Amino acid sequence: MVLDNLSESLKGILHKISGASYIDKDTIKEVTREIQRALLKADVNVKLVLKLTNTVQERALNEKPPAGMTGQDYIIKIIYEELLKILGTDANFDLKPQTIMLVGLYGNGKTTTTGKLARLFTKKGLSTGLIAADVHRPGAYEQLNQISKEINAGFYGEKGEKNPLKIVNNGIKQLSEYKIKIIDTSGRDSLDQELINEVREIKSKVKPDAVLFVIDATLGQQAGPQAKALNDAVSINGVIITKMDGTGKAGGALSAVADIKAPVYFIGTGEHMDDIQIFNPKKFLSRLLGMGDIDSLMEVVEETNMTEEEAEASLDKMMSGKFDLKDMYDIWEKFAKPGLLKKFFGALPLGKMPGGAKIDDSQLDQADEKLRVYRVILDSMTYYELENPDVLNAKRIKRVATGSGMGEKNVRQLLKEYNAMKKNVKAMKKNRNFKKLLKTQLKGGNFSLDDLESKI
Ligand code: GDP
Ligand code: MG
Repeated sequence: MVLDNLSESLKGILHKISGASYIDKDTIKEVTREIQRALLKADVNVKLVLKLTNTVQERALNEKPPAGMTGQDYIIKIIYEELLKILGTDANFDLKPQTIMLVGLYGNGKTTTTGKLARLFTKKGLSTGLIAADVHRPGAYEQLNQISKEINAGFYGEKGEKNPLKIVNNGIKQLSEYKIKIIDTSGRDSLDQELINEVREIKSKVKPDAVLFVIDATLGQQAGPQAKALNDAVSINGVIITKMDGTGKAGGALSAVADIKAPVYFIGTGEHMDDIQIFNPKKFLSRLLGMGDIDSLMEVVEETNMTEEEAEASLDKMMSGKFDLKDMYDIWEKFAKPGLLKKFFGALPLGKMPGGAKIDDSQLDQADEKLRVYRVILDSMTYYELENPDVLNAKRIKRVATGSGMGEKNVRQLLKEYNAMKKNVKAMKKNRNFKKLLKTQLKGGNFSLDDLESKI
């Protein structure tokens, strides 16, 4: 995994936050200091780090979590959002038929990446041809030819030819049957005028659809100025950062490049042809932090949230002792969308229940299935029955069981759960903590039948 150490530190910090019984000023300070240390170790620029930690502190101290989200989860959300800002915005590389030109200095991984990209595109069903336009380095032709054979990509080169423009023009014609053409260009030891002129000339005459800058992650923050200089000189469309494997400095390269607003489209993670990843800041960060997709967490909270008024009304109804099956139905309906529970809990950081207990997929599947069954049963009851559950005698139960197709056992189980809830209404009334807990659960959707039963 890329940035192992940073990942471990950040995961540890998040774990600490979600395990904290309460969050105060000191906790926030301590946590941000730890984030600071972890980011600096990964070579992220000091200014960026300070800005991030200041913002996290300020937001954590001043913002209120939305209804239904714990303070702990909200801090995690803030950290996630601020870290995402240093990684740049999402920009997907358009996988369409096109000509791509790779540029960069010696040894940064252009030729290797030419092959890796071809492999990736081929896997996506786009035939790819490679053009060997590095006329400076002896052996460049052979290297690319070799790679093209290894990955079954098309190849065009002219051994001994010194004019790259001529090779590229011929290559594009020769490889016309390939959907994607990738031009591997010459490097230099430094970003000199000669290289800039060469790139400029090929770019203006050939008009590739994308010019991508290939840069080595081990350069750390130095990747930034280089990308900027080249971007200023020839205007690049995006960046590929190679050698993300085995360097602790990748945080520097990533953040420095993001700072100049050039999207990072791919990252190289090893020497083999398969060691390339499409770079997506959100996914990258989620993986780095060891959590599910936080976007889907937010989405689910919105989907399941009752308004303050709705939560209050449901609660009052429950407390008044007139809690009928319709009320139960209303609550369950919020959670009866297939896969919602799974999505919800799966999206929680570290896969944890609000109470701290781990829950696994099979439990979620069961809960989901139970809700589905109960919902179908409730749908088969008349309004009169929903409002007056006591009338559900053996005859009615049989009718509902047949009508819903769910069997008498399930109908009786549902009624048993309903009665258990109702029976405890009195006890609940006396328990203020319970009221508070239930209210947050209703609002936030952190609700499961078993959870509720065990608290009653
Ligand atoms: P070029 O001069 O820019 O064409 O660079 P090359 O493609 O020849 O790569 C230079 C060296 O870096 C080679 O030894 C590659 O195997 C190595 N390399 C390229 N990309 C990666 C990567 O993502 N990870 C690792 N570990 N090595 C890489
Ligand atoms: Mg090369």
